Amino acid sequence: MPYDRTIRTGRRFTLAALASVLATFVVTTALLAGFLIWTAVRIDEEALERQRSRVIHVVEALLEALPREQQSVAIWDDALLAIRNADQAWLDINVGQWGFSYYGHDESLIVLPDNTIAHAWISGVTRAGSELTRRAHALAPLLADLRERAGRGYADEPPYLADYVLLDGRPAIASVIPVVSDSGRLHDEAGTEPLLVSIVWLDLDLELRLMDQYLLEVGRFTATQSRPQLPILPVTNRSGRIVAFYEWLPYRPGEQLLSAAAPGLVIAVVIFGLVLLLMMRRLWLSSRDLEGRQREVERQASEDSLTGLPNRQSFEARFERLLEGGTSERPTALMMLDLDRFKQVNDTLGHNAGDALIAAVGQRLRSVCEDSSVLARLGGDEFAILHEKHDTPEDLLALAQRIIEAIGRPFSIDGVDAFVGVSIGIVMAGTDDRDRRELTRRADIALYEAKAAGRNRACFYEPSMDVAVQSRHTIEAELREALADDSQLWVAYQPLLGRDASTTIGAEALIRWTHPRLGYVSPANFVPVAEASGLIEALGQFVLRNACELGARWPGRLIAVNISPAQLRNPGFSDNLLDLLKQTGMRARDLEIEITEGILLDDESVAAAAIRRLRAAGVRIALDDFGTGYSSLNYLKRYPVDRIKIDRSFISQLPHSASSAAIVEAMVRLAHALGIMVTAEGVETPDQHGLLVRMGCDTFQGFLFSPPLAASEIASVFAAVPDAPARVA
Ligand code: C2E
Ligand code: CA
Ligand code: CA
Repeated sequence: MPYDRTIRTGRRFTLAALASVLATFVVTTALLAGFLIWTAVRIDEEALERQRSRVIHVVEALLEALPREQQSVAIWDDALLAIRNADQAWLDINVGQWGFSYYGHDESLIVLPDNTIAHAWISGVTRAGSELTRRAHALAPLLADLRERAGRGYADEPPYLADYVLLDGRPAIASVIPVVSDSGRLHDEAGTEPLLVSIVWLDLDLELRLMDQYLLEVGRFTATQSRPQLPILPVTNRSGRIVAFYEWLPYRPGEQLLSAAAPGLVIAVVIFGLVLLLMMRRLWLSSRDLEGRQREVERQASEDSLTGLPNRQSFEARFERLLEGGTSERPTALMMLDLDRFKQVNDTLGHNAGDALIAAVGQRLRSVCEDSSVLARLGGDEFAILHEKHDTPEDLLALAQRIIEAIGRPFSIDGVDAFVGVSIGIVMAGTDDRDRRELTRRADIALYEAKAAGRNRACFYEPSMDVAVQSRHTIEAELREALADDSQLWVAYQPLLGRDASTTIGAEALIRWTHPRLGYVSPANFVPVAEASGLIEALGQFVLRNACELGARWPGRLIAVNISPAQLRNPGFSDNLLDLLKQTGMRARDLEIEITEGILLDDESVAAAAIRRLRAAGVRIALDDFGTGYSSLNYLKRYPVDRIKIDRSFISQLPHSASSAAIVEAMVRLAHALGIMVTAEGVETPDQHGLLVRMGCDTFQGFLFSPPLAASEIASVFAAVPDAPARVA
């Protein structure tokens, strides 16, 4: 189905669109986040690199800074003199306290050439030199090195040496410089100068100073790495030994940037995501809406609105698909259903009732049909069932019977019981049957046969029916010619007798056709064809004119003429007939028209009006084939008729069938109770006649008395009784 495909394509398209929008959003967000993080990491890496080189620089710079600080004291005549004079007070103030308070030198020593400690200060406080002898030991290589350098001589500035050292296991910077004259007036032999040793511990004081002075990050010296995530730099001495580490809290501008920007970005992404979600929801809803509407359109296009069953188009499409499919799912039978007397319900109860009836019929059919079959309403009062299961003809017939029974039960419509029947045509599909139209045509033919056979029954298609259809076509063509020819058609009259059987009170006009090639053609064969083809108008007119001409010549004799439902449905019928009476001079009361229940049932309004009009003009009305319909007795009260003609099928059962006898007797009694005359037709034996007389029948017709006669012969019969007999009418 194209609709189906459209819906599926539409949904796939919507889903794809939604998915790509979502994917774009996710990818964009991820890329943005990735880029930001990458940038932050890069910035942090660069910052860290800069910090690392600054720490390296500071660690190196310290080894230069300490000697420079010492120089302010060590290159000074006064200091040299104070050492020579052992001026403790002067040295305390200008060396020990100054170095500690001004530069933060934790320990200061004056070491003599023999490596004895002349003066010592810890945190600016004088100590006994012996207390720090071990310093001289620990620093001996450094001191020796410096002395060796000084011993080589120097121009203006004395050499100095600073290094990272471990003293008593504590890391420190030790710096050593000779104490020399600044004026040059005092002199020591090179390499024998007293040495000023300054020690600065790598501790909090220094750390604070570094942060303050060199703007280093918050950090500290440590013997081992304490936290692996912190950057760390080894502090090595001159010989490459690690003395300590400097670890610090790195400044991470990238991270800072990220954490500053992140909340805003997250909010932006969330808002954007929400807006996107809302848009997608809108898109999704509207696409679903569209899909729903498409589905509805599809449903309406393929479904019959009254019954909810598939309609003709979708049924035919399904049928085609099944026929194209493999043998396993090939349809095995097609049933065509047509309601009987639906038109009557529609006309009497109105279109709404008709619709309700169709819907109810659809429901009953659905409840009877198996799931393996496709039930559809083709339109009007036509339904079809496609059987996909391999059913035997017996199964199909049983199903048809169930359907007929189900539909035969009264339908309660607006509180009124409505009765309809159903005729069914069935065709079995052979494995080679792939033509839907041909199968449908055959099912239609079978349906026509079912209707012709008396309705409310099922009929299987047989090839001979094609011949019947064929011959119907031939008959129609031939009849058309015969009507123009006027030598082939004539009217026979069957005498109508009174109670004592010697009085011919009238005759029934019966059409006769003597075909030049086919010979005698029965009206039972060609009248239905004439009715179906519309030729009945001309044919009926021919009979009526003939009958009226006869009736005009024999006033007082009742001439009965059969009128087809199709004739009565013509709104001009009554005018035409009254005209004909006038033209021929026949008295209206000598004419009786024979109608069947079908007229009353099928076309109430026009036909009923015509009947009322004719009756008012004096024409008599007879109900022909009485007892074969479904509601004969009911309608007697509603429609004014003068006579009923009990159908030959009842009479022929007499006198042996007790039930037929009971029925006939009841019909006679009822008719008489309503003031209606009764004719028994098809009387063939004296026994039948005797019984019917006893039952009270008023008039008789049948081969027992006379077959239908030519017009000249009936004239002789009439002439044999010159005075019109007292008519029993
Ligand atoms: P019908 O109206 O029931 O006509 C009576 C039929 O019963 C006639 O058959 C008649 O020949 C036959 N019949 C009469 N007595 C006996 C009997 O004792 N035994 C048997 N077995 N049959 C008897 P026919 O002439 O073949 O007509 C058949 C039907 O064709 C009629 O049935 C009527 O429905 C229709 N028909 C005949 N002529 C006309 C006509 O001019 N107009 C219309 N619309 N229908 C006609
Ligand atoms: Ca008749
Ligand atoms: Ca009849």
